Amino acid sequence: MSHAAADRYAWTEPKVEDLGGGVHRIPLPLPLDGLKGVNVYAITDPGGVDLIDAGMAIIAARERLTESLRQLGYGLGDVRNFFVTHIHIDHYSLAMELRREFRSLISLGEDERANMIATREMINGTGGHRVFGADSLRRLGAAELTGELPMLERQGPMFTNWEDPDRWVADGTDLDLRTRTLRAVHTPGHTRGHLVYHDAASEIMFAGDHVLPHITPSIGFEPAGNRMALRDYLSSLARTLALPDARLLPAHGPVTGSTHERVNELLAHHDLRLAETHQAVLAGHATPFEVAKSIKWTRRQRLFDELDLFSQVMSVNETAAHLEVLLVRGQVTREISPEGADLYHVPAGQR
Ligand SMILES: [Zn+2]
Repeated sequence: MSHAAADRYAWTEPKVEDLGGGVHRIPLPLPLDGLKGVNVYAITDPGGVDLIDAGMAIIAARERLTESLRQLGYGLGDVRNFFVTHIHIDHYSLAMELRREFRSLISLGEDERANMIATREMINGTGGHRVFGADSLRRLGAAELTGELPMLERQGPMFTNWEDPDRWVADGTDLDLRTRTLRAVHTPGHTRGHLVYHDAASEIMFAGDHVLPHITPSIGFEPAGNRMALRDYLSSLARTLALPDARLLPAHGPVTGSTHERVNELLAHHDLRLAETHQAVLAGHATPFEVAKSIKWTRRQRLFDELDLFSQVMSVNETAAHLEVLLVRGQVTREISPEGADLYHVPAGQR
């Protein structure tokens, strides 16, 4: 590994980081290709621990969490609450597993209900929900990737028993912990029910995957699907800027000094991507798949064909989200091809 790469993943090293005021960052391992770890944040007091996010239900993560809590003087049975930011497996599944053995309570944003239902339907093979369904690929104009779907579905760990949280949390709820109050702020986009937990008094933001320091969060990658995911996400970023600035405590990546600074970078990134997407449609690329193939990806400006299959599907999904924002803004129109693909065009008067 190069020095740059080593530094990039330094935050995943197995050690507990003391952030002051009884807050600790505990990085847990992930068996996913792109993401090497997920941060769980422990908020401690003499009576017990509350955790922000839970990590993935794999043995390595459970062992790391056990050992990290032990270093802080607690056991798994001392965890009172899991305040989970969103329903993705790397944040939610270990909470479900531990709740079966201990009496911890799980809280999750109420708008994740649709994803919970869709996840169960996906696992039972009913309802037609598929994050990578053949239907959605056809709509994106990427029917040629359909043949590769079985490969994608074999990738990644599965978790089968998806259970509701104890509490569905509404936007604006104040959560009274023993040492502080967290405000749950609905920040849809990454998923439709994503919450950040803001502690205005201590000037810290548990940001989940809403704001990440090194990568741009994926948009609308969720079983229930959300065509308006990017519009929602941009609104959520604006909403975050309207809150007082705070240290950024992300789910993936190191803690940084300013949430606002990173939000402004993310807004600039999406402005640029929207402009590139608009240009690609002007140049005659019509489906999300065609547009995705015509633009460069990742911070290394890679060609679409150089991406692995998973990243290609994510990129096409991402492109569709940008096209839908251009549609809402009146910069493109949408029609459906005889094959069922979405076709975007720049209106005649705007060319
Ligand atoms: Zn995540």
